[in-house]
Amino acid sequence: MDNRKEFLTKEFSKRFQGKPEVWTRAPGRVDLMGSHTDYNLGYVMTMTIDRETWLAASPRADRVVNIYSVDMKSGAEFSLDDLKKDEKTPWVNYVRAVAKYSMEAGYKLKGFNAIVHSTVPFSAGLSSSAALEMAIAMTFQAVSGFEMDPVEMALIGQKAENHFIGVNSGILDQYSSAMGEAGKTILLDCRALRSSLVNISPELKIVICDTKAKRNLLGSEYDDRRKQCEAGVAILQKLDPKIESLRDVSFEDFDAAKDQMPDPVRKRCQFILEENQRVLDLAEPLSKNDGVRLKELFSSSYFGARDLFEIGAPAMEEMYQSMVNAPGVVAARQAGAGFGGCMVALVHPQKVDAFSASVIKEYKQRTDLDAEIYAVEASDGASII
Ligand code: ADP
Ligand code: MG
Repeated sequence: MDNRKEFLTKEFSKRFQGKPEVWTRAPGRVDLMGSHTDYNLGYVMTMTIDRETWLAASPRADRVVNIYSVDMKSGAEFSLDDLKKDEKTPWVNYVRAVAKYSMEAGYKLKGFNAIVHSTVPFSAGLSSSAALEMAIAMTFQAVSGFEMDPVEMALIGQKAENHFIGVNSGILDQYSSAMGEAGKTILLDCRALRSSLVNISPELKIVICDTKAKRNLLGSEYDDRRKQCEAGVAILQKLDPKIESLRDVSFEDFDAAKDQMPDPVRKRCQFILEENQRVLDLAEPLSKNDGVRLKELFSSSYFGARDLFEIGAPAMEEMYQSMVNAPGVVAARQAGAGFGGCMVALVHPQKVDAFSASVIKEYKQRTDLDAEIYAVEASDGASII
């Protein structure tokens, strides 16, 4: 942490006058259960990780933001009075968008100079974009002198992605990054926007297994899944007009309507219903280290994601096999939106090194790709440092 501050202070001084006066951070996250349940207004078991996006900033007297990302090796300067999308440095659009929707919510923003640095891998399913948005929102609060409710901050981040960036994502990523708590996982109700904290047994380590496979199809495939879920809701609504989302659907409702559903729609709906139930079922075995039940829940989530929701990828299948064959594994599944990216395992704490070595070796043999494997701990939600 001290090293990181020292490094960022140097980077800051290279580009701006003086030293940073404001430090903010926001974590990435991983889902322990609940793929694609967020935009269906259901449940997710989500955990912040100790991979974080940091900003080192200093306030400005004018209404200009000048920001540089060490990771992207690019930056831009813009005025808070002129927040247009700019494709020259696309990542700065996340900053513009958070500014725009914070101002629309009535907050008075001041400008700043800042350096961004992240240890959340990009586009790997660990929500680097939400970590960036939440760190930016914290920085605006710190330099402008106001406090925002963390759930409102999450909603502003989601709006930024949905309406400015053009990604039709749910609330999961931003809510987790804003509301996470060290050492705990959160059971999030995506409709009520409420969460409760769940203990993870000390006998379990959360291990990220990055397939390093690019997620090319994600945009269109993601939108297709959303539309298929909506098509399912439309059919179910004929049965019961009170149904607004798959969240409202019981297994009995689904059984009564499924024969009217075209094949992909039926499979998508079945997965979401079962995945929601798995999220609710996970809290107890996770806190009690019930290995048999954890394995059941994680593997049925993975098979459902692969065969019913069809968000798998060849690299994910090879990774899954490598994970379940490794020593110390308790349970393994996908993470994030699927189509490559990261997966997640529960591993016995004393076996993490042996697990990692085995997965790296077997995955390399299977795919010729170099996986990246690391244990993570839940960290606190976005904050001023
Ligand atoms: P994910 O959120 O799963 O990592 P996204 O595609 O939603 O994947 O977001 C990744 C994008 O977020 C990057 O391509 C970049 O535009 C932006 N981003 C995230 N972190 C940073 C950072 N530290 N510096 C600059 N841009 C970042
Ligand atoms: Mg993202």
